[in-house]
Amino acid sequence: MIPFLDLKEINAQYADELKSVINQVIDSGWYILGKSVNEFEEKFSSYCGTKYCVGVANGLDALSLIVKAYEIGKGDEVIVPSNTYIASVLAISANEATPVLVEPNINTYNLDPTKIESNITEKTKAIMVVHLYGQSCDMTPILEIARKYNLKVIEDCAQAHGAFYKGKRAGNLGDAAGFSFYPGKNLGVLGDGGAITTNDEELYTKLVALRNYGSHKKYENLYKGTNSRLDEIHAAVLTVKLDFLDQENSKRREIATYYLNNITNKKIVLPSVESDIQNHVWHLFVVRTEERDRLQKYLLANGIQTLIHYPIPPHKQDAYAEWNHLTYEISEKIHKEVLSLPMSPVLTLDEVKQVVEVINKYE
Ligand SMILES: *Cc1c(COP(=O)(O)O)cnc(C)c1O
Repeated sequence: MIPFLDLKEINAQYADELKSVINQVIDSGWYILGKSVNEFEEKFSSYCGTKYCVGVANGLDALSLIVKAYEIGKGDEVIVPSNTYIASVLAISANEATPVLVEPNINTYNLDPTKIESNITEKTKAIMVVHLYGQSCDMTPILEIARKYNLKVIEDCAQAHGAFYKGKRAGNLGDAAGFSFYPGKNLGVLGDGGAITTNDEELYTKLVALRNYGSHKKYENLYKGTNSRLDEIHAAVLTVKLDFLDQENSKRREIATYYLNNITNKKIVLPSVESDIQNHVWHLFVVRTEERDRLQKYLLANGIQTLIHYPIPPHKQDAYAEWNHLTYEISEKIHKEVLSLPMSPVLTLDEVKQVVEVINKYE
């Protein structure tokens, strides 16, 4: 069986270094908000090209704390793509603000800049862009609209660690960005983890307090904050793994390039790469076909594991029953047709060739 993603094998590459830094944290006797978190925050902000980074407990918290720090709440609207993973939408709902779903471009799966303006009202406070599957959004027109209407731009970078847009990294393309280090992401930890990157000093200072009960000074609280901290152990692991992120992303690009150049089956729509392959870090390699379930069964019968990202759009979830009657045609088509092929930095060329061969034989 060719697995969709082999996490054990990915982390086994660095097992000795990971065990050694984990032991250092154990021996230090300091487990929360210490030098490992500081070190990772400095290293990750410098990697992304931003002035600041704040480690938090997970990707959802990263996004929802940004919304909270900007004081976006009840009565406010935030634009978000209709085909994103539910967490982007939940981050807005968690602050009692209203998510306004906007359709993606069918080729890039990312927010369609031409559909944003007609969804802006006097209540709109921000646009949350999601660099879905690892490809950065078309930011230039989005930033122009944001400037025109004085909106914040929040990036959901949970699938785009290391991606570029016109020479800048994802995480440095808007006002603030949320990252997830969930184990399966391009930069994954051994549990839950997340971070926020920004160049906004005021926002940064506020976030440092918000993640820690709203406290800026021990036992003094400026805000009604939360407990959403990145653990020392996780930060130490991330610092090791960050050194290998670019290398792992290059490996993903090689695999994607092989798929793109060699899958010739006319029944399958390949993902489109906008302008520059550096824009894409291939968190997922997502193809599309009208016979998605049939193709998935065929691949499984031939020893290839695939996944669906995602089977149900946010507006059709029970959690958002108030939206169930709405139709978002492009998003619904995407959810019916997408299939994610095996993609990981430890996939071998032989395995990739085998996937291509099996797909090309599909009738
Ligand atoms: C994974 C993911 C999140 C949430 O991250 P967690 O760390 O799992 O909370 C948010 N947005 C997108 C697009 C994701 O893929």
